Amino acid sequence: MSKTIFEKIIDREISADIILETENLLAFRDTHPEAPVHILVIPKKHFPRLAAVPTEESELLGQLLLAAQACAKKVGIESTGYRLVINNGADAGETVPHLHVHLLGGRKLECPPG
Ligand code: AMP
Repeated sequence: MSKTIFEKIIDREISADIILETENLLAFRDTHPEAPVHILVIPKKHFPRLAAVPTEESELLGQLLLAAQACAKKVGIESTGYRLVINNGADAGETVPHLHVHLLGGRKLECPPG
């Protein structure tokens, strides 16, 4: 199967503005930011969406949230607040089929769409 754009970023085939990297995760700025801070946090291991992550990967899911927390601190929005979003599947508008957490902040965000 062909690689997603995020796998190409992991493999350094495509450049990205990387904020944080660990053994298991990568975080980089979204190219079409919806807020002054818009960072994507992804696992290096490929899962097409949250629903595809098995329970054995609970530690990795915890690492994803902690990496988002660390990114928020690194870019200076820890105290002003931020939002994490995971789009899972078509109805949620997921466009890149590789699990990712959106970290949004840097301004007052509207109520989430419903
Ligand atoms: P989603 O709609 O939840 O699948 O989010 C995918 C996100 O990836 C969108 O916000 C895009 O702007 C972002 N995106 C797509 N290609 C790239 C890229 N090459 N580098 C950084 N962000 C990207």
